[in-house]
Amino acid sequence: MEVSDPFDWLERAAQERAEAGLTRRVRPRPPDDGLLDLAGNDYLGLARHPAVVRAAADAATRWGAGATGSRLVTGDTTLHGELERELASYYGTESALVFSSGYAANLGMVTGLAGGGTHLACDRHNHASLIDATRLAKANGASAALFGHADLTSAQDALASSGAMTRRLVVSDTVFSVDGDLTDVAGLSRISRRHRAGLLLDDAHGLGVIGPGGQGALTAAGLRGASDIVVSVTLSKALGAQGGAVLGPHRVIRHLVDTARTFIFDTGLAPAPAAGALAALTLLRAEPQRAERVRGIAHTLASALGEQGLRVSAPRAAVVSVLAPSPDDAVAWAGRCRHAGVRVGCFRPPSVPDGRPRLRLTARADLTDADVDRVVDVLAGTRPVPVGTR
Ligand code: PMP
Repeated sequence: MEVSDPFDWLERAAQERAEAGLTRRVRPRPPDDGLLDLAGNDYLGLARHPAVVRAAADAATRWGAGATGSRLVTGDTTLHGELERELASYYGTESALVFSSGYAANLGMVTGLAGGGTHLACDRHNHASLIDATRLAKANGASAALFGHADLTSAQDALASSGAMTRRLVVSDTVFSVDGDLTDVAGLSRISRRHRAGLLLDDAHGLGVIGPGGQGALTAAGLRGASDIVVSVTLSKALGAQGGAVLGPHRVIRHLVDTARTFIFDTGLAPAPAAGALAALTLLRAEPQRAERVRGIAHTLASALGEQGLRVSAPRAAVVSVLAPSPDDAVAWAGRCRHAGVRVGCFRPPSVPDGRPRLRLTARADLTDADVDRVVDVLAGTRPVPVGTR
């Protein structure tokens, strides 16, 4: 019997993506290729810090390479509890719960707190993990309305459209990952309180970068310790490790332990990254100036690139984005930068909220002034010819 091919549509789909300039590929990064890296999210330069690497290696030696099970079975170690206490203390919440990734933390936070009868008001540019979390919440009986990006009036309207739903949540990134712009956390909190809504924030790009000493978006907004706000963070950016966490009041964390499916059914975070993140937090406490430094570098980089006539975002954290004329131009431009010794991120649809391709550059606290000058020279010297002149 001839077997029909259930995947015969894949070639056509691949061709369509290729025609639209949207083919992706993974590219192995050698341990040290000598490139100046402005594509990763190691904002504070801690991923290779000797104290962080040593802590991770020691933990693997002591506990093994993996967690061996869910945190609720065999995957919990004293390191996890220590990390949770330190995260809560640094960020200023009562409690914290560590997940295997920031993605899992967002799914757990939103689906754990939004069931049937909940209305979600979500920023239109939220990270993919918050979008997926919202979709899951809707499948569980929640309703959701999008509001205009960082637009408080629109957020208010989205909240007011809750209809018969009796519980309300506002869901937003604090620092948006593509352009590095901020939402008005204090404004969102005011609106949420007016509507008796909880506020769920993703501070993946804020922890370690914004607020004094990188204490994050709540401290920066004067809302440290607020009992009606729950925050997710990742351990994979400023803390240079891997994993995620939800931070908030005891009763919220208690509820997530019992109900968050990405906590219950997922293997716990491996001991090595838990120890690495803990060591990174210790360094951040000892050297809070790293956070100010990374923000300063992002600012200098953006101003210098703007002076070169490039279309640059106004950075408020570590991310600087530079618009490219087309997806193909963005790929070619990133390739020319790589040949010139500088690695930059290349963002194209569907990874950009407004469909506009860009290069994404990330400042790092350990870049020197000479590094920044070099990046500016390389980007300015390799830019695509503007549309209309070629
Ligand atoms: N939220 C935001 C805003 C992010 O940028 C990311 C990572 N790209 C995540 C969540 C997911 O975090 P992780 O990589 O730890 O899964």
